[in-house]
Amino acid sequence: MASGAYRNGVHKGASAASNFKSSSFKSKHPPVAAPGSGLRRSSSASLGAASGSLKDDRGVPGRVRVAVRLRPRNAEELVADADFADCVELQPELKRLKLRKNNWDSDTYEFDEVLTEFASQKRVYEVVAKPVVESVLDGYNGTVMAYGQTGTGKTFTLGRLGEEDTSARGIMVRSMEDILADLSPETDSVSVSYLQLYMETIQDLLDPANDNIPIVEDPRTGDVSLPGATVVEVRDQQSFVELLRLGETHRIAANTKLNTESSRSHALLMVNVKRSVMGREAALSSEDDNSSHLVKPFKPLVRKGKLVVVDLAGSERIQKSGSEGHTLEEAKSINLSLSALGKCINALAENSAHVPVRDSKLTRLLRDSFGGTARTSLIVTIGPSPRHRGETASTILFGQRAMKVENMLKIKEEFDYKSLSRKLDIQLDKLIAENERQQKAFEEEVERITLEAQKRVSEVERNYADALEKERLKCQMEYMESVKQLEEKLVTNKKKCCNGEGPGVSGAEELAEVKKLLQNEIHLRKAAEEEVDYLKNRLGQFTQPEAGGNSEILKLRKSLEDEAHKKKKLEEEITILQSQLLQLTFEADRMRRCLERGGSGNAFTGLDSLMSQVGHLHLKDAGNGQRASIATLSEQVGLQKVLSLLESEDANVRIHAVKVVANLAAEEANQEKIVEAGGLSSLLMLLRRFEDETVRRVAAGAIANLAMNGKYSWVYQSLKGLGFLSFYSGIQSCVQYIYHFCVVTSFSDLAEANQELIMVEGGIGLLSMTAAEAEDPQTLRMVAGAIANLCGNDKLQMKLRSEGGIKALLGTVRCGHPDVLSQVARGIANFAKCESRASSQGTKTGGSFLIEDGALQWIVQNANNEASPIRRHIELALCHLAQHEVNAKDMISGGALWELVRISRDCSREDIRNLAHRTLTSSPTFRSELRRLRIEC
Ligand code: ADP
Ligand code: MG
Repeated sequence: MASGAYRNGVHKGASAASNFKSSSFKSKHPPVAAPGSGLRRSSSASLGAASGSLKDDRGVPGRVRVAVRLRPRNAEELVADADFADCVELQPELKRLKLRKNNWDSDTYEFDEVLTEFASQKRVYEVVAKPVVESVLDGYNGTVMAYGQTGTGKTFTLGRLGEEDTSARGIMVRSMEDILADLSPETDSVSVSYLQLYMETIQDLLDPANDNIPIVEDPRTGDVSLPGATVVEVRDQQSFVELLRLGETHRIAANTKLNTESSRSHALLMVNVKRSVMGREAALSSEDDNSSHLVKPFKPLVRKGKLVVVDLAGSERIQKSGSEGHTLEEAKSINLSLSALGKCINALAENSAHVPVRDSKLTRLLRDSFGGTARTSLIVTIGPSPRHRGETASTILFGQRAMKVENMLKIKEEFDYKSLSRKLDIQLDKLIAENERQQKAFEEEVERITLEAQKRVSEVERNYADALEKERLKCQMEYMESVKQLEEKLVTNKKKCCNGEGPGVSGAEELAEVKKLLQNEIHLRKAAEEEVDYLKNRLGQFTQPEAGGNSEILKLRKSLEDEAHKKKKLEEEITILQSQLLQLTFEADRMRRCLERGGSGNAFTGLDSLMSQVGHLHLKDAGNGQRASIATLSEQVGLQKVLSLLESEDANVRIHAVKVVANLAAEEANQEKIVEAGGLSSLLMLLRRFEDETVRRVAAGAIANLAMNGKYSWVYQSLKGLGFLSFYSGIQSCVQYIYHFCVVTSFSDLAEANQELIMVEGGIGLLSMTAAEAEDPQTLRMVAGAIANLCGNDKLQMKLRSEGGIKALLGTVRCGHPDVLSQVARGIANFAKCESRASSQGTKTGGSFLIEDGALQWIVQNANNEASPIRRHIELALCHLAQHEVNAKDMISGGALWELVRISRDCSREDIRNLAHRTLTSSPTFRSELRRLRIEC
């Protein structure tokens, strides 16, 4: 029997557990045990399970695991059952339980785990609940349920808070500890609801007012939910324990109010775990082949595992507890859910076609736990008392049946569309921002490159243009040079042609010509030789009488020398006589005046002596000492008196007096006194009145001395119209005077008038003569400078030219001194300017006098002179000349065109450059010549 019973038990147990021989409750899970193989597994492992479940809708098999726990005898049992053995005998190592039928017979049952009265709460949790909790964390639903008679330790096993003794903590507390430890607060969440089911009514243990919560089933998935039930998010263990305590308080209160015992109601703790995991790309691409590349980096999945911990009402039959005073209907209602659960488990265990899930709220709520997709662990609690043997047996059988229930575990995993969308939004924003940034950078880069390119292009263009222009100018200059040379050759050839040496004469003719010339030469030579012979003969004839002639010549020379000596002596005597005569004249004068005034002649004693001394002096030899003595004497005699002698009737007196005054005038210290005393008037008077050459010469010298001082510009004025220069010719000081007049005093507003005066007085003739004779560069400079100034006077153009001024000016260049050349260039520029002005005003017609007088050659030669003053004047002169069409042809033939072209290009002074350019382009003759020569201007 026993064996039969055992067989029965074994049969029942073995049939359920035949596939799972392992001693470990945990390891007896089917292959899907992978999710339960450890709390902290790599995400890839869980991922694999996840993707597998996604691909396989059927899930993986997972039988309901059942453990049995024996409560130790309580105080009452220790007393009451003291004489009796326990109704069960446990063989935990064999996972077997023997239920005594009587003293000699028992039934043996095999469970997934057999937990003795000594099993710790920790061990119970680890073998019963921990694998379920791990599955929940992996995204499966899980159920831990306690079934058993009231007082056998269901609540002890599941619900103890263990606040005072942590080792007493039950499955609920320990589950939450493990869950919280495994979640990441940033991405995961856990929330709980705590409910009580009593008489088919669901009450909210977290909110007692919420006492009739409906069950809503999703018709598509079959998932049940309890809308309206309080859901509290759990952040930490402490708050969860508080929630449990609150729920327990409310449970007691509710049962009191309903006049029930907690043992008659079912308590359900629902823990929802939501975890975010990153899915594999493969999983995503297989789901949606059209998924864009954007999706690839993000494969957010959310796993929603639900753990249900069910503390069932006591499983004892209601009849037994009739003391509670319920009616039969009530009792049926109270137990409806539990019996419906039994029925369902029976149906599932027997693989019935119909499972009456909908018969009760409990079975509806637990439909996923039995025959569903959840991993389910059932702990059946039993007491040791033989008095409750029947209830214990019933509990054991319940457990045995439950072990036959096979679930199909399915991971509760879905795409986290919200998270995906949120992440995609962020990603999109980032990409847009990045794109905008790149676009902006790209545009800036394009702009920068464009600018750079433009800059480079313009630089290259500029360089190219510059190089081109340089090359063009160089070519033109070369071209000009060669054209110039060709032109010159042409002119030379033309000249040769004119002389009959042109290229038209053939070689033979030329030879004949040469021969003819040679013949002529030979004839001429012969004639010359004959002439020489003849002359030689004649010379021989003359040689004989020459000896006598020589002595006669010597005689004549000697007598000539004697004559010269005599002449000198006579001259000296004349001088002495003249001085005596002067003295006598003075005396006669004195006598006359004395007679006229009736005074004595003694006052003239000093003057007589002065005159007698002056009479012995040669003015031009007068040294400083002599001059000083003259000055002293004149002081003694009185300047006024000396000056009065200038008007003497006696020519000799006048001569001596003028010599004295001239000597005094040579000293600057005396000049003012002489002028103040009216000496100038007296000197001028001499010039006007007397014909005597010596008097005039000496007087003119004195005036020149007086005039040399710049202070006396009025002196020049007063010389106007005096014919001063005409009788002062050939004297160096005259040139100085004119130069001074023309150049030094040119600042004066009288300059122009003075220039005219010079001209009137025949200054040009003087200057020309000096220019022709002088060798000293300074003299020539003065001559050229004076003429140059006169050249700048519009009124004097004609006269200056007609009197040979231009030629005289050009004549001075022979000395080659740069100072002289500079004056010449200035004079030419001045003249050209005046001419140009006159031509423009219509007062002059015809070509330039400068060209007519042959200045062009010198101008062209010096147009590029190294000395800049010379070059500038000539450049200006060329421009002035070129402004008048009438000069154009002469300028072209004289080679001035080349210089004008050069000036228009190379002159460092922009105004002159522009003037040359304007001049060239405005002249038709120049233009056509340039066209002919193919020269661009
Ligand atoms: P149930 O919930 O099944 O009605 P309880 O959990 O309330 O039973 O337990 C009834 C009593 O038995 C409690 O006082 C409890 O402390 C005690 N008890 C239950 N199981 C054990 C156990 N394994 N060890 C010690 N005491 C237990
Ligand atoms: Mg209880």
